[in-house]
Amino acid sequence: MKIVFASNNAHKLEEVRKILAPMEVLGLREVGFDSEIDETGTTLEANSMLKAQVVWQWLVEQGIDTTMWGVFADDTGLEIAALGGAPGVYSARWAGEPSNDARNRQKALCELTGVQDRSARFRTVITWMDARGAQQVEGIVKGRMAEEESGEGGFGYDALFIPEGHHATFAALPAEEKNAISHRARALHALRALLK
Ligand code: IMP
Repeated sequence: MKIVFASNNAHKLEEVRKILAPMEVLGLREVGFDSEIDETGTTLEANSMLKAQVVWQWLVEQGIDTTMWGVFADDTGLEIAALGGAPGVYSARWAGEPSNDARNRQKALCELTGVQDRSARFRTVITWMDARGAQQVEGIVKGRMAEEESGEGGFGYDALFIPEGHHATFAALPAEEKNAISHRARALHALRALLK
């Protein structure tokens, strides 16, 4: 079976390949797809569905016999309980365009000033699409938002997010440790189970 991951992000592709091995996964560039996909959905489910559908449709339009093909796409958001689940699907551009991780973290700290309940979670939704239709799986890591940034690694909201059972932020954990418990890894394990 040929599996396409609807992303060109090299780090994500590497993580995906590690978890889904020995299944082979192709990136968008490798199949010749080079358009931008507008993430216009208002939920993680809708956005990951949209990305998987666009790539699937493109494969069909190439005249490929898709019987033995599968496509999957992911979408991730940070959901802060005290903010009603925000920024959620808007996590990447929460502090405005263009997307800026440092400003997003600043905004999170600002919105949570004086807030006692700092519980939050990362949630990844993966849509798998093949000739039989679409299925979705998710991966969640629960935790809380720190009072200040710490840690040197990671990206996005990592310097503020303390996963449950830890005292340090994702950014302060060794990459392998974060990758072992992350929302994305959990969603990918759920996908692997689905494909078996
Ligand atoms: P994407 O759907 O994987 O592109 O993620 C959307 C946004 O969520 C990113 O731009 C980050 O702001 C945030 N995000 C996703 N995954 C992580 C993570 O593992 N750590 C910190 N922030 C993340």
